[in-house]
Amino acid sequence: MSSGLTIRVVSISALLIAACGVHTPKGVAQALISDEQENQLGQQVKQELDKQGTKYVKDPEVVNYVQGVAKRIFVSANKDRPGVTWHVYVIDDPKQVNAFATPGGNLFVYTGLLIAADNEAQLAGVWGHESGHVVARHTARQMVDAMGLETVLSIALGENPNALAELAGTLAAKGALLSYSRQDETEADEYGARYSSAAGYDPHGIIQFFQKLEKIEGQQPALAKYLSDHPLTADRITHLTEYIQQNNLKGTELGAERLQPVKQKLVAQAHAAGVKPAALR
Ligand code: ZN
Repeated sequence: MSSGLTIRVVSISALLIAACGVHTPKGVAQALISDEQENQLGQQVKQELDKQGTKYVKDPEVVNYVQGVAKRIFVSANKDRPGVTWHVYVIDDPKQVNAFATPGGNLFVYTGLLIAADNEAQLAGVWGHESGHVVARHTARQMVDAMGLETVLSIALGENPNALAELAGTLAAKGALLSYSRQDETEADEYGARYSSAAGYDPHGIIQFFQKLEKIEGQQPALAKYLSDHPLTADRITHLTEYIQQNNLKGTELGAERLQPVKQKLVAQAHAAGVKPAALR
């Protein structure tokens, strides 16, 4: 491993980098891909998703609500990584229980995840987790690891429409750019708990959401896609529980009463369109 990396986010990063030999450390990813290139990548991917016919929710009640929760999380994210221009999109697909982030700060959530969540604290935990992947540069780093620097840069420059279409296709089908390493997932979990707590939410929201997904998956495997991209292990929950305790993360807000009307609206719209939401099977 190279030395002299800029470890700026959390002290545990040093341990993570030391522990994972196969991944490009975030300091290296930062040196390889500039913030500007990350933004371009994010824009390219968004344009390709649009081109492929991704259906977004336009209902201002739903969109404003989801963006409002994210904004509270971005207060912390912006301190850890200033200069990210965050965009939040709601994808209209009640059957997908998923959310993902792309480089450049584009966050996407499927209506299926909103319907599956019990309260706002759970959604806040998901936003903390996803924005953590961006803050820690996991998204850009994983792309370089999987596709190679040259391909990633050519996508950012708009020079590689084939690779871009393939990437967006994977995103649309899988709901994730690429699989993150377990270390990255653990780190993103910590962001999820920390950012939710800083915003006043119960930091256990992300844990409760994972447990909820486990239940859905038990009834209908393959529906809770968020779990297949975020493999849940007993130690992940144990670690997160300990992390919240050790760092004395406070926060009690659940906000179930605010999520409820949005959920009801989405469920009604799904039924009107003849679609049965994944969480309600
Ligand atoms: Zn993740």
